[in-house]
Amino acid sequence: MTSFENIKKLYLTRFPDGEVREDEPMSRHTSFRIGGPVKLMLLPKCSEELKYALNITSGGEVRRLVMGNGTDLLVSDDPLDMAVIKTCDGLSAMRLTDDGIIEAECGALLSKIAAFSLSNSLAGFEFAQGIPGSLGGGLSMNAGAYGGELKDVLLSVSAADEAGNEVELSLGDCLMSYRRSVFTEGKFTALSARLKLVPGDQEEIRGRIEELAEKRRASQPLNLPSAGSTFKRPVGGFAAALIDQAGLKGYTVGGAQVSEKHAGFVVNIGGATCRDVIMLMEHIRETVLRESGIALEPEVKIIR
Ligand SMILES: Cc1cc2nc3c(=O)[nH]c(=O)nc-3n(C[C@H](O)[C@H](O)[C@H](O)COP(=O)(O)OP(=O)(O)OC[C@H]3O[C@@H](n4cnc5c(N)ncnc54)[C@H](O)[C@@H]3O)c2cc1C
Repeated sequence: MTSFENIKKLYLTRFPDGEVREDEPMSRHTSFRIGGPVKLMLLPKCSEELKYALNITSGGEVRRLVMGNGTDLLVSDDPLDMAVIKTCDGLSAMRLTDDGIIEAECGALLSKIAAFSLSNSLAGFEFAQGIPGSLGGGLSMNAGAYGGELKDVLLSVSAADEAGNEVELSLGDCLMSYRRSVFTEGKFTALSARLKLVPGDQEEIRGRIEELAEKRRASQPLNLPSAGSTFKRPVGGFAAALIDQAGLKGYTVGGAQVSEKHAGFVVNIGGATCRDVIMLMEHIRETVLRESGIALEPEVKIIR
């Protein structure tokens, strides 16, 4: 029996209703709509299933990836011998605790948490409404927009170590900085987190959400598949401005294009492959380095 067959057997023996997919195309699970089949995908529906999935994929025998909503991933076109654990959809519960704290599972979408905050007249999460990822992906990236970042509202995280043992992490333990955290390297998986927001006026919160959504619609190519900002903000500049100044808006490789609307986004204009995007990213990096002397670093996570 291969390791993958063994993982599947163990998972379904422990959780007979557990969801397991084989040779699952990642293009169905990434906002780029790119990615070949992965050997095994486990879709846990509760923390116990997630911890067990981590446990039986630990030890280094199989390569594994924990993913949320796939909005920051660029995945190889070729089949990948790996186990993917997808938390989005399954682990999406959230609740308001007695002391006004929102506790949400890692697969909960940031947009849903923002809507929940709004319905409870809690302010401070408006910035995250338009970020299309999950809480777990957001924690990994310390996702942020329009002056807010997850670390500003985070109290603590229930996490699991590589073997699925539960640990409590304080905000300090999470080591959150610009697009980085203790979760970035995959040593810990977030199971759920507690967010501290402040009571506010519901109409003002709604107004702020609508204002930010309008800013996004006006500036970002939301009608085309992408993974958001392709490169991180470099010290001393903005990736989008540097790419624009290098004359790369609209530059195309295969089905991948530097967005005409927002140079910071690479978009899939139809049938883009991972190779197209990588070739385009290399061209962008080389051109920007030559023109400005600044080396751009990818923000999207490349899985190949
Ligand atoms: C149109 C568009 C707009 C965007 N705008 C923004 C923006 O304004 N600001 C911003 O910061 N980002 C933005 N993004 C990028 C992306 O949405 C965020 O980085 C988001 O936080 C990724 O979440 P995800 O659930 O999709 O993560 P995924 O893409 O699934 O995974 C990203 C990383 O998180 C890790 N991860 C996922 N779940 C967990 C978990 N439970 N525990 C530990 N690690 C985990 C993965 O292993 C991977 O390394 C945008 C993307 C798009 C497509």
